[in-house]
Amino acid sequence: MYLKSLTLRGFKSFASTTTLQLEPGITCVVGPNGSGKSNVVDALSWVMGQQGAKSLRGGTMEDVIFAGTSGRPPLGRAEVALTIDNTDGALPIEYSEVTISRTMFRNGGSEYAINGTPCRLLDVQELLSDSGIGREMHVIVGQGQLDSILRATPEERRGFVEEAAGVLKHRKRKEKALRKLESTQANLTRLQDVLTELR
Ligand code: ATP
Repeated sequence: MYLKSLTLRGFKSFASTTTLQLEPGITCVVGPNGSGKSNVVDALSWVMGQQGAKSLRGGTMEDVIFAGTSGRPPLGRAEVALTIDNTDGALPIEYSEVTISRTMFRNGGSEYAINGTPCRLLDVQELLSDSGIGREMHVIVGQGQLDSILRATPEERRGFVEEAAGVLKHRKRKEKALRKLESTQANLTRLQDVLTELR
């Protein structure tokens, strides 16, 4: 499985339809500051279902739509399509090529499609979930993220490892269970007091 192409239209600085053809192996995107390199990476995570405006470096989700320049008016929608080569069958779908697309309109709401068939975000997430890419995109390391890992305290660094290893959700569950135990213990103590008073 590898990413075969990425098409952007009206997404951030990519007002016109722009297609990046990718090959297996390493791809480098080079360009001057502010030319849109990070926007390409944002488009990748957006089409795969990214929901947080902040992780897309915007204030609101609509900020992904081309906002216009002095010479070009704003657009009403953003569209990204990602084509994945699936000849090795890594994605659980009967196609050797899978195109995931996402469209967002200025009045809100996203539409998703898999190979041209409209679908839900959940379908996209499920399709990608066993492939190592998808909702919690640890495979996309943004600018500054490496820095924050290198500068992290040992405690914070352990947090990253725990998150990657899937321990975090169990830690959260444990904390919740301990809180429940504590409140049950408090209830028992109160009950004991009442019983002592009644005796
Ligand atoms: P650097 O090398 O400095 O990190 P970069 O090549 O990664 O830069 P990006 O951050 O991808 O650049 O692109 C920033 C550009 O995208 C800015 O010029 C910004 O105005 C433009 N941009 C971002 N969102 C939109 C939008 N919704 N509409 C139009 N332009 C946008």
